[in-house]
Amino acid sequence: MTNASEAAFKKKLGLQPLNFGPIDAAREVVIPDAVPLDDRLWIPQEPNLWIRPLLLCASRGYWVTLLRSKKAGILSRHRHPQPVHGYVIKGTWRYLEHDWIATEGGYVYEPPGETHTLVMGDGVDEMITLFQVNGAMIYLGPEGELAGYDDVHTKIEQAREHYEKVGIGAAYVDGIIR
Ligand code: FE
Repeated sequence: MTNASEAAFKKKLGLQPLNFGPIDAAREVVIPDAVPLDDRLWIPQEPNLWIRPLLLCASRGYWVTLLRSKKAGILSRHRHPQPVHGYVIKGTWRYLEHDWIATEGGYVYEPPGETHTLVMGDGVDEMITLFQVNGAMIYLGPEGELAGYDDVHTKIEQAREHYEKVGIGAAYVDGIIR
């Protein structure tokens, strides 16, 4: 909308422009190509597994990311101390520990305390799921022993390192940190 037609639109609605917010409110994040056109925005995690972070919320300790796999694979077993929300954009996946399958268009809630092992790519070419991960991912070994963790700060570090390496530049990450 042009400025003139925007003004006419607001006048018709009888609304005064209220384009201000509290001075300490964070800036919004708007990403038109969330599933990116530029493949370099996918950060490798494991063979055939990538993430594309959309929001790295350092101030509240969570991150929103796309997870993509291209071939059959297994994501390290992990435990969530806080909830996770997932929305399947493409393909299917499941957990070794559950008997349901997450399918395209589906929503999944992972409760705090949940430990699971993601299995991807059973008969699909590509899987893409949006996850909001709160707190941390705690990785567990085959015997359930502690093997490592990710939190929003390790994700920020990984993103900076990768985007610098592929020529996008580490500064890109600043635009999605809040
Ligand atoms: Fe999980």
